[in-house]
Amino acid sequence: MRAIVIGAGFAGLTAALRLRRWGLETLLLDKQEGPGGKAIGWDGVPTGPTVLTLPEVVRSIFAEFGAEPPAMKPVSPLTRYHWPDGREFAPELDLEATAAQLSPQETQDYRRLLGEARKLYEGAKNTFLFAEPPTLSKLARYGLSDGLQAHPLLSLPQLVESGPYLTPFFLRFATYLGANPYQAPAVLHNIAWVELGLGVYHLEGGMRALADALYQLAKAQGVEFSFGTEVTGLETETEGLFPGMPYVDGVLTPQGHFDTDLVVSATDRHFTLGWLGKPVPDYELGVAGFALLMRLSEPVALEHRIYFSRDYRKEWQEIKSGSLSTDPTLYLHTDCENAFLLVNTPSLQKLERRKLEAESQNYAQMLLGKLKSLHPLPIAEWKAMSPIDYSATAYQGALYGRAPHGLLGALRPNWTVGNLQNLVQVGGTVHPGGGVPLSLLSGWNGAGWLLERLGR
Ligand SMILES: Cc1cc2nc3c(=O)[nH]c(=O)nc-3n(C[C@H](O)[C@H](O)[C@H](O)COP(=O)(O)OP(=O)(O)OC[C@H]3O[C@@H](n4cnc5c(N)ncnc54)[C@H](O)[C@@H]3O)c2cc1C
Repeated sequence: MRAIVIGAGFAGLTAALRLRRWGLETLLLDKQEGPGGKAIGWDGVPTGPTVLTLPEVVRSIFAEFGAEPPAMKPVSPLTRYHWPDGREFAPELDLEATAAQLSPQETQDYRRLLGEARKLYEGAKNTFLFAEPPTLSKLARYGLSDGLQAHPLLSLPQLVESGPYLTPFFLRFATYLGANPYQAPAVLHNIAWVELGLGVYHLEGGMRALADALYQLAKAQGVEFSFGTEVTGLETETEGLFPGMPYVDGVLTPQGHFDTDLVVSATDRHFTLGWLGKPVPDYELGVAGFALLMRLSEPVALEHRIYFSRDYRKEWQEIKSGSLSTDPTLYLHTDCENAFLLVNTPSLQKLERRKLEAESQNYAQMLLGKLKSLHPLPIAEWKAMSPIDYSATAYQGALYGRAPHGLLGALRPNWTVGNLQNLVQVGGTVHPGGGVPLSLLSGWNGAGWLLERLGR
C-alpha cells in the first residue's frame, strides 16, 4: 500500500514513522521547505514552540526504532514570572524552593491548586491524552468517575481564584490549548500539572532540533519527503477500494496528482475540510499570537520569562472583543543568540486582516519598547510574525483550532473527516490536543488507528 502524509510538523513526522514501520510506502508532502511545521524556525530563531513537556513521549517514539532521542535537559526554574509592581516568582519542581518565595497563604493555595491540577491530569490522561478519541461509553465511564471530581460546573477562574498574583499565574496555563482563560472550563487546570509537576525540558538547538531528529529517523526508515509541495485538493471515490463508501484516492498539488491508498492529514483540520469542499464549522476559534523573532549580537542565558500585564482580565476582554491588547502579557524565551517574544491575540476570525496589516509595524515597535523597558536585549536583527503569518500553518491564525471553552470545549475534534474510510486527521487541532507532545501522540496513535481500521 502507498500512503501519503500531508504536513511535516511533529504529528506528520510520527504518523509517517508509524506507517513506515508497518511496511507502507510512505510519502510526506509539505509546502514549507523543511520539517518542523510551526517549529520550523527562522534560521535558528524559534517561530513557535520553545518549551518541551512530557519528554517520555519523545523517548517512547525513538525507542520504537531502537534509536536515541536528542538530549533533553530539565529547566530550572521552570519559568520566571514578573508582575508590574516588581514581584517575581520562579517556581521549581522542588516544592520547598517554590514555597520559600510565597507567603504562608500563597503556599497553602499553591499546594492546594497543584494537587488539584495533578488530580485532574491523572483522572483525564488515560481517557483524553494517551488513547484514541474516547467513545461515548468511555466518556460516560469518565463522567461517572473522574469527571465528577473535575468540577464540571466550575469555570477555570472560579477554581483557581487565589489572590492577585497566583490567580493570573494559574489562569495562564489554559492559553497553552488556545483558551481565553476567563472562558475556559475548570478541567483545563490539568495543564498546570504538566509544567509545574512534571517539568519543562530543553533541547540543544531548540524544538527545531527535535523535528530534525525525527526527520532523520524517518528518512533512515525509508520515508520519502517532498518539500515545497502544496496540497490544493483531495480527490474522492466511491467505487473500487471501499465499494459504496467514500475514500480518498488522489492528492492534488500544483506539481501534479499523487495516487494513494491512504492519507494522513497532519495539517490544520480546517485546511482538510477546505480541500474536500466541506463547510468549515462556525464555532469560535482559539487564540492566535503575535511574535518577535530576534537575533542577538551576543549570547544570553537560556530562560523562559513571563511579564504580566497590569490588568490580566482587561487584556483578555480586549482579545475577546477582537482587538490587539494595549498592554499585553509578554512571554520571552532567550537561548544563546536567539530570542523569541510572544503575546496572545485574537484569531483572524475576530481581527480584521486589513486593520492588522496596517497596525502590525506599530504593534511590533510597541512590543520592542516594552521589552526594552523590562528586559533589554542586544538585538542585532528582528522580524515580526503576526496572526496573518501564522495563518500559513493555522486556519485564521488560531494556533490550536477550536476554542476550548465551556464544559465540552476541552474535548478535541476526533480523527475522522466526514465518513472517508482511508483518511485520518491528526495534529494540534484535533485529539488529543495542542502542544508538541500531544501532536506527536496524535500522529503516532492516529496513524495506528487508521491501520487498524484498514485491517493492518
Ligand atoms: C507561537 C507558538 C508557540 C508555541 N509554543 C509551544 C510550546 O512552547 N510548547 C509546546 O509543546 N507547544 C507549543 N506550541 C504548539 C505547537 O507548536 C503545536 O501544537 C505543534 O507544533 C503542532 O504540530 P502539528 O504537526 O500538529 O502541526 P504543524 O506544526 O502546523 O504542521 C503542519 C504542517 O502542515 C503543512 N501544511 C499546511 N498546509 C499545507 C498544504 N496545503 N500543503 C502541504 N503542507 C501543508 C505546514 O506547512 C506544516 O509544516 C506553540 C505554537 C505556536 C504557534
